[in-house]
Formats: sequence, structure tokens, C-alpha cells
Amino acid sequence: MMELKGKKVLVVGLGKSGLAAALFLRRQGAQVTVSDMRSAEALAREIPALLEEGIMVEAGGHGLLTFRRQDLIVVSPGVPLDTPELVQVRAFGLPVIGELELASRFLKGRMLAVTGSNGKTTTTTLLGAILHEAGLHTLVGGNIGVPVVGLIDDSADETWSVLEVSSFQLESTETFHPSIAVILNITPDHLDRHGSFENYALAKERIFAAQTAADSVVLNADNARAAEAAKRSPGQVYWFSIEHEVEQGCWVQGGYVLYRGAKGADVETVMPLSGIPLKGEHNVENVAAAVCAARLAGAPVEAIRRAIEKFQAVEHRLEYVATINGVEFYNDSKATNVDATAKAVVAFQSGIHLILGGKDKGSDYTLLDPLLRARVRAVYTIGSAAAKIESQLRGVVSLHSCETLEKAVAAARAAARPGDVVLLAPACSSFDQFESYEHRGRVFKQLVTQQKGW
Ligand code: ADP
Repeated sequence: MMELKGKKVLVVGLGKSGLAAALFLRRQGAQVTVSDMRSAEALAREIPALLEEGIMVEAGGHGLLTFRRQDLIVVSPGVPLDTPELVQVRAFGLPVIGELELASRFLKGRMLAVTGSNGKTTTTTLLGAILHEAGLHTLVGGNIGVPVVGLIDDSADETWSVLEVSSFQLESTETFHPSIAVILNITPDHLDRHGSFENYALAKERIFAAQTAADSVVLNADNARAAEAAKRSPGQVYWFSIEHEVEQGCWVQGGYVLYRGAKGADVETVMPLSGIPLKGEHNVENVAAAVCAARLAGAPVEAIRRAIEKFQAVEHRLEYVATINGVEFYNDSKATNVDATAKAVVAFQSGIHLILGGKDKGSDYTLLDPLLRARVRAVYTIGSAAAKIESQLRGVVSLHSCETLEKAVAAARAAARPGDVVLLAPACSSFDQFESYEHRGRVFKQLVTQQKGW
């Protein structure tokens, strides 16, 4: 634990976790300043609460002196570490850490952390449910909604904190030390921020950087880049696979989910695949990862099976919306990269009307070619990425430029025949036309249900 009383701390970036970090630091007796690029008007909601707590606020940009007069800088995950001010203060030897690092120094009990390009929220939520079902004192937080500092007060020595952690959060860790770390998969995403696939992959590997031989890492044997991380892992390596048996970990065989705790140990039958209520093979991967991590945390097989059988899809993750005139509508607004879209398409055999587009993140949409040819009847493009998507997919699949989600839903609805599926799995972020992927997903659901009476 670190002493914060009387320390001068600057929090850079006033998002959800920055705000929570500032309030926590203040409660610990630090002199806190918050600095954000957004204007005072844009921060009108947050500023009064901060001032009331005795936190200083600098809006509309950062002054260099603001950065220099500090003992510690806490940076929000949305702020790139190569921001010139941060590069400079680090050169002066000032510690720059993220909210995850800060909180993990105060959390009691053990941490189980989940990262990956896709499936983090689903797997973290499922793991929380499993450990809870097993009667363990469980907290869930991180990138998933509740900032990790928000868990500190409720944590005790026997607590398992199940944390969803993103590559942005992992970039600003130093001593962050989960007892169990899970890397679900590493596929291209956020290349606009990380610069290259390898940098992005290395940021994910920071999840186990501070682990020791007493800790465990759970890796995806079916994902080449995630599996390669085993070479650098200081902890015990466990595997999950939906394709083949593994020496120690969880795998799928003959329609069953199986687990083996150590090389040569007895195989445990966890449950039949038919007991998994989630759609898509990717969710079997998430289940396998969760089974492995939960067994390592000490959850009995029985509790694991019960929790999985009860589990419902998290909203906006391949979420069933409605069936209208024999056409099924699915909301996968959280499919904000090409791999997640590919997994969504694989979850349906054929007859898919796929809505793609939004804000491009430097993605290569041609990776979808074989799947589009095999399963997708037509693609409906929306948002600022539309022109790029169309130029990359021309000749592969029937394309309709729709610009807005409203027009895309109407066009797909008109073209779909009974037995077809209309799928929003846009492979892009939402910020060109929506506040968030949640907003986009909610609008989609409204458009679908409004059309019910058509
Ligand atoms: P994250 O928190 O990593 O974004 P989510 O559980 O929110 O993960 O899912 C994000 C998107 O990825 C959704 O579209 C979901 O259907 C899809 N997805 C979920 N699990 C996986 C997986 N293991 N591999 C690929 N895509 C996945």
C-alpha cells in the first residue's frame, strides 16, 4: 500500500474511472487536481461535485506547470501515454500510473483478471456469477462499469475481485498482480491507438508481468498470438481449447466440457455443451476460459455448471431481439472489431443480412470475405466507415449504402425472407453517429420493435 496523505496527485482525464480515482485519492487525504481536455461547459456536471470535495479542476487543456508540481500522476485509460506532457513528466522521473494500478495497491484479497480482444465482459460477468454461486466472496469491476477503486471498501482478505481489464488499462500498470490472469484471445483491434498489432499484444501480456511462479495464467490454445504469450509467462500456464485436448485446463470433446487440473490428473466432466445457454462457438470459448479460471479459484464443478446453465447473454452481445414475420433480429452492437463480427456471423448458418459500419479503427474488412461469401445474403453499410468497407468488399457480397441505422434496418427488413437473420454486428466503433455502442444497440432494438406493426 502507498501513503497518499498530503501527496500532490494529478488525475488526467475525467472519465468514469478518473472521477472515481480523484474522489478516492481525496478521501485518502491527497491534494488532488483533475485535468481534462474538455471545456468547463462540457464538464459542468462533474465540476461542482469535485470542487465540493476540495479537488481542484483544470478544464480545457493541460498546463505544463500543472504536471510538474505533482508527486504522482494518475492517468485515465482514454489518455494515450505518449501525450507530450506525460512523456515529459516521466522523463523527470514522476510516477505515472492508471486507476487499475492505483486501486490494485489497496484492494484486499485476491484478483482474477480477464483480458482479450473480445469476450472480456461476457467472461468476467460469467466468472463473477460462478464464484458467487460457489459461495466465495466475489466482487466484479474494472473496464466493465464499476471502476476498481469502487471495490476497495467492500474487499476483505477472503475476497476474489474479478476484473475486466483492457489493453489501455494494462499499459499504465507496474505492480498489478492478479493471482489468476486470463487472456481470452488477441486479434487486431485498436491499431489506431497502439500503432501495431505487436504493441497491442504486448500491452495485453502486461496482465501477467508482475506474476510469480505461484500464480496462474489461462491462455487460449486455439489463438496463435494468445498461446505464444506462454513463452513469457512467469506463472503456471493452463489452457482452454474448443478444438483439442489440453494437458492442464479446460477443453471440449464429444459434446462435453472437460477439465483437468494438472498434467496426468483425472479428467472431470463439467457439463454437456447442450447446457450452455449462449449462442455461438465464441461463447463456448468464453465458457471454457471461465471454467478453467473458476476451478483454479477453487469453485466446485457443480457450482460452475449451475451458474453457466442460468447465465443469460449480456446486453448488446449477440442479444436476441425479436422474430418478425419469420425473420430473427440480433443485436451485437458490441461487435466493434472485425473478429467479433466474424464470430457473430459464424453463429448463424446462412441467410444473414449484416449491418456493418460506424467509425473505422484502421481495420481490414477483407478478412470477412470468405464468411460473407458463405453465409451473408447482403451487407448494409452505415456511418463514416461505409466508403472504406464498400471499397474493400465490392464484388464479394451484395452491398447497400444506407448511411443511417434507421435506413439499414428498413432495407434489411424489406429484403429478408422467413428463416433469415438481420444482424447488427458492425465491426466498427459507434462514435460517429452514436454516443456509445450501448446507444447504438438500443436504437437498433427500438427500430426493430417499432417495425413490428409494419
Ligand atoms: P469485450 O468486453 O472484450 O468487448 P464482450 O463480451 O463485450 O467482450 O463481447 C464483445 C463482442 O465480441 C461481442 O460482439 C461478442 O458477441 C463478441 N465475442 C464475445 N466473446 C468472444 C470471443 N471469445 N471471441 C470473439 N468474439 C467474441
